[in-house]
Amino acid sequence: MPGRDAALHSQTARGRGPSPVHTRSVPIRTCVGCRTRERADALLRVVAENGRAVPDPRRRLPGRGAWLHPRTGCLDRAERRSAFVRALRLRVAPETGAVRHWVQEQQGTGSLPVPSSEESKVDQS
Ligand SMILES: [Zn+2]
Repeated sequence: MPGRDAALHSQTARGRGPSPVHTRSVPIRTCVGCRTRERADALLRVVAENGRAVPDPRRRLPGRGAWLHPRTGCLDRAERRSAFVRALRLRVAPETGAVRHWVQEQQGTGSLPVPSSEESKVDQS
């Protein structure tokens, strides 16, 4: 795009100062695991689908959502306290394998190793 930069520079607003970013108010949600209030964009939305809890990182799935830090610690706590049952208005605790998988992927190669008893049999040789 030729000339765009020059145009932008020449018409930079005078006086009030350029403030291109409107600070949108970010909704605050409560993590169902640790009960900490947090910006929604830092939390993972979880919805129930056919008795299973599924991650909804794009927040597009319909229905009630539970909000969770993408951390296995919070997921564990939420499960222990049956937080999903309450938050999602379920009768029985949902299966959270998909959420756990997603969370573990987010944590990825990060700090703490999260051994999943299912597939990783670590052979330390
Ligand atoms: Zn949390």
